[in-house]
Amino acid sequence: MTTNKTVLISGAGVAGLGLAHWLDHHGFRATLVERAPYVRHGGYAVDFRGEALDVLNRMGLLEPVRALDTAMGDAAMVDAEGRRYATLPAAVFAGDLEVPKGELTRLLHAAARGAEYLFDDSIRSVEQDADGVDVTFENGPPRRFDLLVGADGPHSRTRAVVFGPEERFLRSLGIHTAIFSLPNHLGLDHTGQLYVSPGKAANVFAGDVRGRARAALHFAAEELAPGRHDMAEQRRIVAERFAGEGWEIPRLLTEMRAAEDFWFDVNAQVVMDTWVDDRVALLGDAGYCAAPTSGRGTSQALIGAYVLAGELARARGDHRAAFPAYENAMRPLVAEHQAVGRAGAERFFLPAPTQEVLDMLAANAPERTRPEVVRLPDYDDTSY
Ligand SMILES: Cc1cc2nc3c(=O)[nH]c(=O)nc-3n(C[C@H](O)[C@H](O)[C@H](O)COP(=O)(O)OP(=O)(O)OC[C@H]3O[C@@H](n4cnc5c(N)ncnc54)[C@H](O)[C@@H]3O)c2cc1C
Repeated sequence: MTTNKTVLISGAGVAGLGLAHWLDHHGFRATLVERAPYVRHGGYAVDFRGEALDVLNRMGLLEPVRALDTAMGDAAMVDAEGRRYATLPAAVFAGDLEVPKGELTRLLHAAARGAEYLFDDSIRSVEQDADGVDVTFENGPPRRFDLLVGADGPHSRTRAVVFGPEERFLRSLGIHTAIFSLPNHLGLDHTGQLYVSPGKAANVFAGDVRGRARAALHFAAEELAPGRHDMAEQRRIVAERFAGEGWEIPRLLTEMRAAEDFWFDVNAQVVMDTWVDDRVALLGDAGYCAAPTSGRGTSQALIGAYVLAGELARARGDHRAAFPAYENAMRPLVAEHQAVGRAGAERFFLPAPTQEVLDMLAANAPERTRPEVVRLPDYDDTSY
C-alpha cells in the first residue's frame, strides 16, 4: 500500500524539477509552485561532478547535458593593465562538466513535464496534521497535500514558514557577488580573464561564440548592507567598491548599470540541524546551500532530489521512514561540499596568486582526491 501520494514542491529550480521527475517516475503526483511566471532560464554556468553525473545518466540526460558543455579552457590572470601574469587551470574552477544553468533547467523542465505547475505564486502558510499539510498561497486558493518539500533556494520561503527565520540558518562567507551578462568585447572563446586586488576579484568568461560574455564582481564584506530586492542600491554599492580599479573594471561597471540580468547576493551557506519537520522536508539550497564557492550546489541538489524521491518510493510513501533516510544519506556529502565551499571562500581573495600556487590548487582539486561518499542506490529495485 502506498501512502502520501501527493507532494507539493516549492520552487521549480534544479532541485524542484529533479524531484518532480523522480516522484513521477516512482508513481507519486508532484505539484510545483514557482514564484516566477515561468521556469527560469537565465543564469551563470554550473558544473556537475561525481555522483550527479550518475543521476543525469539515470534520467537519460547525460548526453543532452554533455552536448551543452561549455568546454571551458584555462583562463588568464591579468593585472591592472590587462597583462597576463599567470594561467588559471580549468581544473580549479570547472567541474567534470560545465553547462549554462538556464539550458539545464530547460532540460529538467522537459523531464518533469508530468508535474502540475502553479506559476507566479508562493506558499504563504503551512499547517500540518496527522494526515496531511494544508497550504495557503499568495495568489491561488488553499490546497491540501500529503507532503511538502521546500526546494525554493537559499532564501527559502518554506524554511522561513516551517523552520524559522533566515538569520538562524544562513551563514555568510563574507563575499558579495554581482553577476551580469555583457557583449563579449574581450573576444573570449571558451576562456576567461580574472583580475584580483585586495579584497576584490573580478572576472569575465565566455563559454560560446554567440557574442555574449558573463562578468562577476566579488568583494569582501561581512554584512549584507542593501535590501535583497533593492537593485539600484546593490548596483551603487558594487560601483562604489570597484571605483578606481584598473583592467576592464570601468567598462564592466558601465555594462552592469545597463544589464537586465543583474544578480547580486552574499555567498552564504545554509546550516541546519535537521531538514525535516514531520511532513515537510527541505531539498537543495533551501536546506543545505554549500555556497557558489563550492561549485557543488547543482550536483547536490540533483543528488538530493534523486535520493529523496527514491527513499519515498522505497518506504512506499511513508515519510517517517523516508525523510530521515534521505537526511542520513545526504549528510556526509553535504558536509564535504560545505567544507569545500568554506575553503574556497578562504582562498578567494588570494593576492595575485603565483603560477606555482595555481598549479598546486589544480593538482589538489577536490574531485581528484575525494573518496566516494554517497553510493547512489538503485531505487528501481523496489517492487513498487
Ligand atoms: C552566482 C552563483 C554561481 C554558482 N555556480 C555554481 C557552479 O559553478 N556549480 C554548481 O554546482 N553550482 C553553482 N551554483 C549553485 C547552484 O546554482 C545552486 O546550488 C543550485 O541551483 C541549487 O538548486 P536549487 O533548486 O536548490 O535552488 P535554485 O536553483 O535557486 O532554485 C530555487 C527555485 O525556487 C524559486 N523560488 C524562490 N523562492 C520561492 C518562493 N517563495 N516560492 C516559490 N518559488 C520560489 C526560484 O525562483 C527558483 O526557481 C551557483 C550559484 C550562484 C548563485
